[in-house]
Amino acid sequence: MSTLANITLPETQKVAIVASLGAPVQIKDHPVTAVDKLLPGQCLLKMVCTGVCHTDLHAAMGDWPVKPITPLIGGHEGVGIIVAIGANTTNSPVKLGDRVGVKWIANSCYNCEQCRKGYEQNCDNVKLSGYTVDGTFSQYLVSWVHSVTPIPENIDSESAASILCAGLTVYRALKYSETTPGDWVVIPGAGGGLGHLAVQYAKYMGRRVIAIDGGEEKHKLCMELGADRWIDFTKCHDIVGEIKKLTDGYGAHAAIVTTASSSGYTQAIDYLRDNGRLMAVGLPAKATLDASIFFTVFKSITIHGSYVGNRQDAMEAVSIAASGAVKCRYQLKKLVDIEKVYEDMAKGKIAGRIVLSIDQ
Ligand code: NAD
Ligand code: ZN
Repeated sequence: MSTLANITLPETQKVAIVASLGAPVQIKDHPVTAVDKLLPGQCLLKMVCTGVCHTDLHAAMGDWPVKPITPLIGGHEGVGIIVAIGANTTNSPVKLGDRVGVKWIANSCYNCEQCRKGYEQNCDNVKLSGYTVDGTFSQYLVSWVHSVTPIPENIDSESAASILCAGLTVYRALKYSETTPGDWVVIPGAGGGLGHLAVQYAKYMGRRVIAIDGGEEKHKLCMELGADRWIDFTKCHDIVGEIKKLTDGYGAHAAIVTTASSSGYTQAIDYLRDNGRLMAVGLPAKATLDASIFFTVFKSITIHGSYVGNRQDAMEAVSIAASGAVKCRYQLKKLVDIEKVYEDMAKGKIAGRIVLSIDQ
């Protein structure tokens, strides 16, 4: 084992923890894993900051069919410094003192069929940050040297944090959307955490963007980020007709649906053009996709479930953000503010992202 020089690790830390699903999130003392308990391949991170994703709220509520562990320390888009590495760790791509990112895929086996094909998120033995293992709402976190994402020097930790889930997820969804420059991409949820980054990655890739969300603040944000057109779902009574009008009557080439409610999905098959792609990203709790089978076939529509991304996707998404082409719009708060953040998120009040600083 090795530990960063001049650092004394405390025995306890502050974490944001949910005792049982649906219970309020609380700040509590929690043990810090002792360095001699780290397994080969594991590292200990001193956390700097973490984004808050709508997935963390789904997890705290326990509203998905697959349940998280409890007590639950959530969070899965954070940045920290490696302060210790487990004994007998071999071929580590990162070293003590490196600034690295933690994403939803905390670790995977890298040896099964899905991992070999690059689908690390579908690994049989995948560990999920803030869901099946402790997450980033903590001062110190055990992670894995082969799974962390190195953060380049030219991006600050707060700007990088949400790229590790929100950015990476929408970047990959766009990558697999089989669109080409000039194509029309509809983004329901465009003013939210994932959506506002999707607008930017889509523009970076030369797509034309129809942003859909609700309210003036999100309208302003989407236009500032380069959206070509805006539709307010709280006011527009004919979203399909409006999208057809904006796309010369044909409909959009793809939809990247990033809403946490099923309403963002309902009309997508109707507003996509022939051979269009519905990239399903948002994860409403108990909804089913109510798509017309006839028109899905007749229009040769593809429905693609797009689930986060692998290590390479993460590095690409971070690298584009570090180049300055994509910038997370965040409000910086503290870990102790998390309960209020969840309240605002549930009401759809947050434009862009909330990033929490982890005071040490
Ligand atoms: P968010 O709350 O920041 O954003 C959701 C946005 O959707 C809000 O701005 C809201 O106003 C908007 N919205 C709600 N109903 C709408 C409608 N009918 N039309 C248009 N916009 C609408 O949430 P987020 O953190 O961006 O996460 C969004 C969803 O994506 C969550 O369900 C989350 O769990 C999921 N997610 C999926 C993946 C994946 O791998 N597929 C990864 C991360 C998050
Ligand atoms: Zn997330």
